[in-house]
Amino acid sequence: LFITFEGIEGAGKTTQSMLLAEWLKKRGREVCVTYEPGHTPLGQRIREILLSDQFSSCAEAELLLYLADRAEHVKKMILPALTENKFVLCDRYHDSTLAYQGYGRGIKIEFIWNCLFSLGFPLPHFTFLLDCPVEIGLKRIKNRTLDRMEKQTLLFHNRVREGFLKLAKADPKRIKVIDVTMPIKDIQTEIRTYVAREYGI
Ligand code: C5P
Ligand code: MG
Repeated sequence: LFITFEGIEGAGKTTQSMLLAEWLKKRGREVCVTYEPGHTPLGQRIREILLSDQFSSCAEAELLLYLADRAEHVKKMILPALTENKFVLCDRYHDSTLAYQGYGRGIKIEFIWNCLFSLGFPLPHFTFLLDCPVEIGLKRIKNRTLDRMEKQTLLFHNRVREGFLKLAKADPKRIKVIDVTMPIKDIQTEIRTYVAREYGI
């Protein structure tokens, strides 16, 4: 019952996971809505470091900070919720690490997978990759104050998007690509249809 939402900036991950949570709750399911990086007290501190303008990072240091955030998040929030049989809806997880630190920053994908496995993190049962052209995503977030990563070049964001799509191609059973240039309501309908079928709701 572990579902993740992935995608580039402005794809609508938060909106869609909240809408899905609402729907699941109405159907009597217990839901834990969460996100990375930064949903634990330690994670919050790590997030501040990662996204601050002063932090110009070595890719490996960045990776390890994301993994530190995940270790804390998995142990304190995700595993307990899964043990209680809750639906866990997580905004960003492994695929973001592979797309941003791997395809984006150039760390070997195999090395990252080794880290993720070695740390014993649970694999999501299902992942929605909310996909749209980078220009559309960035246009949607242009009214808020951009963090360090969001200010990266178009080239970087395109590598990340292509990376997500490669991950989906390599694991089509887990990762479902959703075109998010459609209206929010239609995207949510598609997501609910999948969840309904997958989990018999
Ligand atoms: O999802 P949210 O926008 O809150 O994530 C914060 C930022 O962290 C994003 O702008 C994203 O670019 C960055 N990020 C990253 N590597 C990850 C996860 C998130 O660079 N593994
Ligand atoms: Mg962002």
